[in-house]
Amino acid sequence: MSRAKTFPALPTFCPDADPLEIFRAGLAAANGPMTLACSFSIDDVVLIDLLKNHLKELTVFALDTGRLPEETYEVAETVSQRYGIAIQWYFPERAAVEQLEREKGLFSFRESVANRKECCFVRKVEPLHRALSGFAGWVTGLRRAQSVTREELAPLEIDSANGGLLKISPLLYWSDDQVTNYASENRVPVNRLHREGYPSIGCAPCTRAVQPGEHPRAGRWWWEGPEHKECGLHKR
Ligand code: SF4
Repeated sequence: MSRAKTFPALPTFCPDADPLEIFRAGLAAANGPMTLACSFSIDDVVLIDLLKNHLKELTVFALDTGRLPEETYEVAETVSQRYGIAIQWYFPERAAVEQLEREKGLFSFRESVANRKECCFVRKVEPLHRALSGFAGWVTGLRRAQSVTREELAPLEIDSANGGLLKISPLLYWSDDQVTNYASENRVPVNRLHREGYPSIGCAPCTRAVQPGEHPRAGRWWWEGPEHKECGLHKR
């Protein structure tokens, strides 16, 4: 049986900490191979741009759920070319998707939270476990401002839900404006859905545009309450 890696005491950071300072501290604490999770949201591409001088120390992976919007594939290609990254794509297990769709149809996720979590598990969580296998840590574009479910996160955390590896979130304290300003000033490739009213982008059938004044994640699984708006990738 494999044992979870142990880490030294993790440093804490001020809310105005430089994302690179957080990343470097995480890299030192992990002391092993690292990977970066990219959904091709503006947050994740800003993170890649910020870490562009460190990309040789990381692999970059993405989860192709089979239900992503076309716009996400388009920006993925642009990001891959611009930063010279060979994206490590992970797909769901074919047999699990076939069974899910044969037994429950193509839109079972609209019927209940349990069905939605089942689909997210098959298409995202299980592939994530494979994507993280063998790494000492992973880097994410999570920010506290994204969701009520993320307000308690720390920049460096032990990710018990994923085998006890180190989870590093360099942008954790950044506001929406900091991200959009950075993207604009540095001409970061941005998913065009962000300009069409989609502040948060996931699978096509589970994402809609938001109205002015709505929470940025209001368009994700919009038929569910805010306390459920996680797909299981960032379980604590
Ligand atoms: S976001 Fe929707 S389509 Fe994508 S994995 Fe989750 S439930 Fe399935």
